[in-house]
Amino acid sequence: WVAHLHRATLRLDVPPPPTVWMGLLEEVARRRNLAIISHPDAGKTTLTEKLLLYGGAIHQAGAVKAKGEQRRAKSDFMQIEQERGISISSTVLTYDYNGKRVNVLDTPGHQDFSEDTYRTLAAADNAVMLVDGAKGLEPQTRKLFEVARLRRLPLFTFVNKLDRPALSPFEILDQIEREFEITCCPLLWPIGCGDRFKGVLDRRDGTVHLFGRGVRGKQAEELETLALDDPRLEGALADSELFAQLRDDVEVLDGLIPPLDMARVMRGEMTPVFFGSAMTNFGVQLFLDSFLEIGTPPMPRALDAKSEEFSDGSIADDAETVDPTSQEFSGFVFKLQANLDPKHRDRLAYVRICSGSFTKGMKVKHSRLAGKELILSSAQSMLGNDRTTVEDASYPGDVIGINNPSGTLAIGDTLYTGARRISYSKIPSFSPEVFARCINPTPSKSKQFNKGLAQLVAEGAVQQLLERGEDVVGAVPILAAVGPLQLEVVSSRMESEYGCAVTFETLPYQHARWAMAGWDAMDQAQAAGKLMNVRKLQDQYGRPVILFPSEWRLNTATSELGESLALRPYALA
Ligand code: GDP
Repeated sequence: WVAHLHRATLRLDVPPPPTVWMGLLEEVARRRNLAIISHPDAGKTTLTEKLLLYGGAIHQAGAVKAKGEQRRAKSDFMQIEQERGISISSTVLTYDYNGKRVNVLDTPGHQDFSEDTYRTLAAADNAVMLVDGAKGLEPQTRKLFEVARLRRLPLFTFVNKLDRPALSPFEILDQIEREFEITCCPLLWPIGCGDRFKGVLDRRDGTVHLFGRGVRGKQAEELETLALDDPRLEGALADSELFAQLRDDVEVLDGLIPPLDMARVMRGEMTPVFFGSAMTNFGVQLFLDSFLEIGTPPMPRALDAKSEEFSDGSIADDAETVDPTSQEFSGFVFKLQANLDPKHRDRLAYVRICSGSFTKGMKVKHSRLAGKELILSSAQSMLGNDRTTVEDASYPGDVIGINNPSGTLAIGDTLYTGARRISYSKIPSFSPEVFARCINPTPSKSKQFNKGLAQLVAEGAVQQLLERGEDVVGAVPILAAVGPLQLEVVSSRMESEYGCAVTFETLPYQHARWAMAGWDAMDQAQAAGKLMNVRKLQDQYGRPVILFPSEWRLNTATSELGESLALRPYALA
């Protein structure tokens, strides 16, 4: 990594005094920032809690997962007033372990909130894919994997629940390789599963870690660590079949699995794989140690290039980047949240720091507003339910919550110091698949209706579409969401936070495409009779969006008009 710094790209500033720079370098080098992606119930909450056991929690920006919270059931989302900040709003969990500063960015498990996950992954440096050992890859694992791949994040895989009957570890590797076209490099290998789960082989140093079962749900004890070729191993395992199996497995692994190649991991071509059990703690610490050692610290980050404005949001290879050890501060907003604390009626913007350091009261510039100055006097984080102000400096990889009372900050906005105005690459929105007219049944509450909807749209809770040329005031907007739960959240929050009940009228469309070629091209296609049975609307930025009633209509239009209309599944803010 240090070698990488020597090739460092853009420096925003004159080099800082060596001592300052070394301090910053150290802080950057010890940061590990990760987001866990998994299908609901794979054990994300459990793993996060166990990871926390190893370090003292420093603080959580956003709210805390309620103790004992196990489920991300629909009911969680519906009791939003009490439970906000549990399933959908916790943002980042910070702790120190072995000299490293770990930031765990929370991602919602439910697929309807994939878009939130995507934005969070934009702020993460590493993704950890959690797989249920009995179930293998599940629909949400697949969807989120694609999201992580778009962000080009190094991916670590933890196969969980080995204390239960599980699929063969080879079968799981095979699934991942086949479906995701990524090479698996198992670093921890399980010895047995279910009641016969005895421990794991650490392939990096050839040691076998044998565990004893604690009380169910409690931390398992590590009984013994033996070298793979230690003659006592067979006796210690006390299971000759497992012992023979381990021998066979090792032979196959050593013969077939290429060695760990971090350059390939960084390019998303290889994933280090770990097997264990979050609940009983088998393998969790070995995973954490390994992750802290080989996981990626904050890296230079790509700036926006005009040419990628309408692309798929992935980052061009030759994009200009900013080095995290630049003395000038920079960061971008990846998440907004209103009314986190119902008593305060506040709005927070979460900023991922990309370079330099941040201290309270700092003056920064707002890139989208032509470098307008802001004083960031109220960075906050939460520990439990008590809000505490961040007094210490924060560094690249950290997330700070900034008060955003008048909505000056929007998702994707860049903040910076220094003379050069910079803007980080944009975060695309997901292609919506659920569409509904959002009706305000109480005309006397139109003010609350407009305000609430505007804030929720700014948060990215849902997208808002209008008829072409229509003004938002007085309109019945069409809300577009990735999944129906997003609409339920809007309805529930409109009522509880803005005192305005809304009703939805679902529209019979299934897909949306942005026509980046513009309105004229749309009119031409229409005049040529090529846009039948679709609905043409405009998004928040006045850009044309086409809604399709079926996959078939979408496919026909894509093959006929995909190029001339420059159809895109999403557009950048
Ligand atoms: P999330 O939805 O991904 O956050 O999953 P949770 O952490 O809430 O776990 C879902 C269920 O799986 C809970 O009942 C957990 O106790 C259970 N669980 C999590 N990890 C393990 C594990 O390693 N072994 C077993 N047997 N159960 C686990």
